[in-house]
Amino acid sequence: MTARLLVFENARELRAFVGAQRNDGQRIGFVPTMGNLHAGHHALVRHANECADCVIASVFVNPTQFGPDEDFDRYPRTQVEDIDGLEQAGCHAVFLPSVREIYPGGTDAGTRVEVGALGRTLEGASRPGHFDGVATVVTTLFHIVQPDVAVFGRKDFQQLLVIRQLVRDLAFAIDIEAVPTLREADGLAMSSRNRYLSAREHSNAATIHATLTWMADQFRNGGRVDAIEREAAARLAACELVPDYAVLRRAADLEPLATGSSAEAIALIAARAGATRLIDNLPV
Ligand code: AMP
Repeated sequence: MTARLLVFENARELRAFVGAQRNDGQRIGFVPTMGNLHAGHHALVRHANECADCVIASVFVNPTQFGPDEDFDRYPRTQVEDIDGLEQAGCHAVFLPSVREIYPGGTDAGTRVEVGALGRTLEGASRPGHFDGVATVVTTLFHIVQPDVAVFGRKDFQQLLVIRQLVRDLAFAIDIEAVPTLREADGLAMSSRNRYLSAREHSNAATIHATLTWMADQFRNGGRVDAIEREAAARLAACELVPDYAVLRRAADLEPLATGSSAEAIALIAARAGATRLIDNLPV
C-alpha cells in the first residue's frame, strides 16, 4: 500500500505542509521535474526516499528555460499519469504551480539568476539563456520547498553541475544527490522527448549511447581527443542523426580535456533525430 499523495498548487499551502513535517523532525527531500514522468523520474523519487523522510516532487514546465523556437507549447503534459506514478514511487506530496505562482512578476520581467561561464558552454551555447532559466526556477523552488536534500539525474549532466554551482554560490544549505541515467533496452536514455520519435528515429537514436560507449573506450585506450570527437560525429551522421556536439570534457567543469589526461572525463552528445533534440552522456 502506498500512502495517498498530497497535491499542492499553492506555494503558501505547500510551505505550511513542509513546515509541519520539519517541526515533526522529518528530513525533506525534493525532486523537481517538468512532468511526463517515466521510470527515470521515479528512480529519483525512490532515491529521495532513501535520503529523506518526506519526499516532495514538483511538476512545472518552466517557460524561461525554453528558447523561442523550442517545444514549450507542445511539451507533453500528462498530469493524471504523473500523479499516479509519483504515488506508486513513494512520493508524499507534489507541487503543481501555475506560471503565475512561480513568476509573479511575469516571465519577461522580474528577477533572474545568471549562471556564468558554465551556463554558456555545450547546452548553453546551443540554447542561449537555458541555464539561467533553470537556475532561476530551481532557486525559486528551493526557497518554496526548503528541502534538506534535492535529487537530480545524471542524464542532464551539465544541469547537475549548474545546480551544484548554484547551491555553492548562493549558499543554499541543501545536499545535492545525483542518480544514474535510466535507459531503454537498446541503450537510449529515457526522456520525455522520446515520445516525439518515430520507430525509425528511435532505433537511430540508440546510436547515441553506442557512440558514447565507443568514445569512452577510445579515450581510455589513449586515443586522441580530436580524432575521437570527429569519428563520433561521423558515426552519428551515418545513422541519420545531426550532432550538435559529440565531445570529451573534464567531468568537474566541462573544460576541454587533453589527450591522455588523467582528469576524470565525460563523453557528452547532443544530436537531433528528425525534429527531436536528444542529449546523453557517459562518464569515462
Ligand atoms: P525533466 O523532467 O526532464 O526536467 O527531468 C527532471 C529530472 O529527472 C532531472 O533531474 C533529470 O536529470 C532527471 N531525469 C530525466 N531523465 C532521466 C533518466 N533517464 N534517468 C535518470 N534521471 C533522469
